[in-house]
Order: sequence, then C-alpha cells, then structure tokens
Amino acid sequence: MHTNKNKYTTHNFKTDIIIRVLFIVLILLLMFLLVKKLKYDSCLSVSNDKNSESVLIKTAKTINRNIKNIGNNNAAPSPSGNTSQTTDPASSGALNLDAPMVALTFDDGSNNSTTGRILDVIEQYGCRATFFVVGNRLKANASSVQRASSLGCEIGSHSYDHAQLKGMKSSGIKKEFSKTNDVLKELIGKKAPVVRTPYGSTDKKVLKAVKYPVILWSIDSRDWETRNKKKTVKNIMNTVKDGDIILMHDLYEETADAVEVIVPRLLNQGYQLVTVSEMMEAKGIKLKPGHAYFNGRR
Ligand code: ZN
Repeated sequence: MHTNKNKYTTHNFKTDIIIRVLFIVLILLLMFLLVKKLKYDSCLSVSNDKNSESVLIKTAKTINRNIKNIGNNNAAPSPSGNTSQTTDPASSGALNLDAPMVALTFDDGSNNSTTGRILDVIEQYGCRATFFVVGNRLKANASSVQRASSLGCEIGSHSYDHAQLKGMKSSGIKKEFSKTNDVLKELIGKKAPVVRTPYGSTDKKVLKAVKYPVILWSIDSRDWETRNKKKTVKNIMNTVKDGDIILMHDLYEETADAVEVIVPRLLNQGYQLVTVSEMMEAKGIKLKPGHAYFNGRR
C-alpha cells in the first residue's frame, strides 16, 4: 500500500513537471511570435514613411522635369542690355498656376560648404531657389555657384563687395554689379538677371544706377540673427503664403539645417518652390530694371 502510494506520487510528480515545462514552452513560443509581429509592424511603418517620402521626391522631380522641358521653349524675362538669359532652362511654363508658389532666396554666398548642403536638399526634392551671390566670394567657391546654376537655380547679384550702395556714386554702384557679372560670365557663362542690394538698402539713385530688377523680400527668416534652426523654420512656416519671397543666408549651418525641414514641409503643403524670375513670370509680373519687388502678388 505504501509502495503503491509512492509509485502513484512519483508518476503524478512527473506528469506535473511535463505539464509545467510544456506550459513554459508554449508561453515562450507565444512571446516569440508576438515579438516577431511587432518587429514586422515597425518595419512596415518605416517602409511606409520611406515610401511617402520617395513619392514626394518623385512628384517634385516630375514637376521640375516638366518645367525644364517647357522652359527650354519659353525664354526667361531678360532685363535690357542682358541677352544671355534667354537659354535659361529654369523658365516657367509648366507651373500649376492654381497652386501656391514661393521663392526661397539666399544671400551672401556662395559658400561651398553651406551652399552645398542647401543644394543637396534642392537636388533631392527637384526644386529650385535663387542665390544672390557676393562677387568677391565666387572664385573661391566656384563649384557651388556652378552647381546651383546647373540645377536650374537662379543666380542673382548681391554686389561685388557687399557694399552699402546708398551714398555711393552711380559709377561705383554700376561697377559693383559689372564686376560680379564678369566673374559670373567666367564661371557660369551668364550674367545675373536680377539683383538684391546689400542690406536691402535702396533709394531712387541706387535703383536708377543698378539697371536690373531689384528683388527684396516679404518674409525675413532672421536666420543671420538667431542662428537657430527652429526659429528660422518657425519664422517662415508661421507666415508663409502664395507669392512670398523668403530671405535666408547660405552662410550658416543652422540655415542649411532649417532648409532640410522647410523644403519637404512646403512641398507637403502644396507649394511649388521656384526661382524669383519663374514666380514673377507665372504671376504675370514683368520684371523691369530699376524697380524694386517685394513679392509675387499683384
Ligand atoms: Zn547681404
């Protein structure tokens, strides 16, 4: 009786162990399957994000290609005395006139490092911008101005020495722009069709002496002052609207950081990112030498 009881207890104990082990194995199996599913789901969401980003880039590039194709048959506006702009591939024509557009503009370059980073974003998304370059910085930073031009960006002039033009003689003002144009012709084979006076400083005498359309701005990002990515993004995104000309400076890493955020965000909101001349042409605004322009709104 005693032996039987022991046999029974040992048997019972073994069964109990087997059941416990099976239970633990089952729990481990379920946990393994659950982790596997979670991993698969997170991969899926990353790949969805990548997909939407690549669709955005693809769409922007298609629009850009269409603009270039039609632009080749559609001459850009050419200020008097400047005949070298008629073959600019980045002329408007295929822009969607019902969709909003803005012109990103960058002053005080070129700078191979920071302008280069901005051009990486522009190339990635297939959009364009306008660079108001300082003549005396061009030869040392030739590759970035050449790359900007080849990407269909507009190269405007910001004088040769970043001079305060107010109070200068007319001959001195003209020289600031002719000297910059000489370097531009050497580096990119054409003159600047538009100018931005340093500090946005203009008066009647300056406008008359400049002999090109003077492009000012409607949004000042204050990037030179804040040197802060978030503030630059905020200053632009909080007020942006159709026809804006946005002022930034391609000298600062923080500005390049902000551009990496601003460009996809504006494209997501349906904005077309174009050069100043493209936007003015699309809006039916004729650029005239000696006139100042603040935006692309009529
Ligand atoms: Zn400047």
